[in-house]
Amino acid sequence: MENVLVAGAGMAGLQTVLGLRDLGYTGPITLLGAEEHRPYDRPPLSKEVLAGKTDDTSFDVDWAALDVSLLLGRTATALRPGDGGGRVETAEGEIAFDRLVIATGARAIGLPGAGDVHGVHVLRTIDDARALRTELVPGAHVVIVGAGWIGAEVATAAAAAGCRTTVVEALDAPLAGALPAEVGARFTPWYAEAGVELLLGARVDRLEPGAVHLTDGTRLPADAIVVGIGVRPDTAWLAGSGVGLDERGAVIVDSRLRTSVPGVYAVGDCTVFASARYGTRLHVEHWDNALRAPRALAAHLLGGDEAYDPVPYFWSEQFGRMVQYVGHHPAGDELVLRGPGPDGKWTAGWFAGDTLVALLAVARPRDLAQGRRLVQAGTAVDKAGFADIDVPVKDTAR
Ligand code: FAD
Repeated sequence: MENVLVAGAGMAGLQTVLGLRDLGYTGPITLLGAEEHRPYDRPPLSKEVLAGKTDDTSFDVDWAALDVSLLLGRTATALRPGDGGGRVETAEGEIAFDRLVIATGARAIGLPGAGDVHGVHVLRTIDDARALRTELVPGAHVVIVGAGWIGAEVATAAAAAGCRTTVVEALDAPLAGALPAEVGARFTPWYAEAGVELLLGARVDRLEPGAVHLTDGTRLPADAIVVGIGVRPDTAWLAGSGVGLDERGAVIVDSRLRTSVPGVYAVGDCTVFASARYGTRLHVEHWDNALRAPRALAAHLLGGDEAYDPVPYFWSEQFGRMVQYVGHHPAGDELVLRGPGPDGKWTAGWFAGDTLVALLAVARPRDLAQGRRLVQAGTAVDKAGFADIDVPVKDTAR
């Protein structure tokens, strides 16, 4: 391995570089990023940045010590694999590599036609967050399309800033894309408590400057419109390269994070990876995966042969609550609820037989920490004990 090119200078790209250097790789590394900014952290964008607590979420990196050729504001436009390496094209010229790591992440999906309407925001980049923050002023009407993770966090910030906030969700519960309706319904009251209007089963017909029209004829006035309906892997530049993509455009990688092209690897939000643990391919668009997969890849590139087979984890902070999730619940067929206790906090567990396979904890970090160990180990758990909020999760192991 003579030189490594990392395409995409987000969390996963940076962690690849840090992982290689930490494990002693001293050869040349080029880190290519489409944005003008040095690598920065995205979770704070919808939290501290929108709340006005910080304006800069750059990772704290000693770039001189890292000794990496950092090419910012340069977009990979095509991949031309060759014998034992290849070239990546950019508008400013080609970059040759021996090994390529694809880490181009994901981009926010817009509503059809919304790109032409003034005042419509998505939230993926620091520039998006700074632009949206200027709109979150007391009394402003903010309409958010989508009650997913991002929609809930934006609603939290907008309500806290004193905006008149409405969330429009096409499905029947918040987070319906990620959680069963029975669990999602437990998030519903949080909106009203925060003074946010939540319209469920409400479909957007069209947007116009200053308003969102629903299919039932309702016109919602909006000083700012935020579309939070999900992301898609940012991989169009790989067309024709031979790198295999799934139906969503995610780069298909094996348990060693190898793509279908020799010498080309992929990590982070742009990937779908083979999970032996769950017997399926996983598409995990969360921070923890963008931290761990690059570390596993670095070890593999330097001669290791351990499979990357994580238990997925993520968190969200909404309406003053820390929500944490570990595992993969489609693997489990039975939902067991734990609480709420008198403080309103609760946990949900998913079981396959007696095995706890996933857990969602609302403001119960101890449940999460203890449950994580059980999920990781595949331990059999006593469901009746689990359902009793007064029994510590660790004591429910059989
Ligand atoms: P990205 O962060 O998307 O980075 C990819 C980089 O590649 C980008 O900078 C992009 O500009 C660049 N790029 C794209 N195409 C090209 C190209 N052709 N050439 C060169 N460069 C290119 N996760 C959690 O677990 N918990 C949270 O609370 C949470 N909150 C979030 C809040 C927000 C607002 C957002 C946007 C995400 C949040 N996430 C959260 C998700 C988490 O941030 C992502 O999983 C993580 O950023 C993925 O890292 P990545 O490097 O794979 O992709």
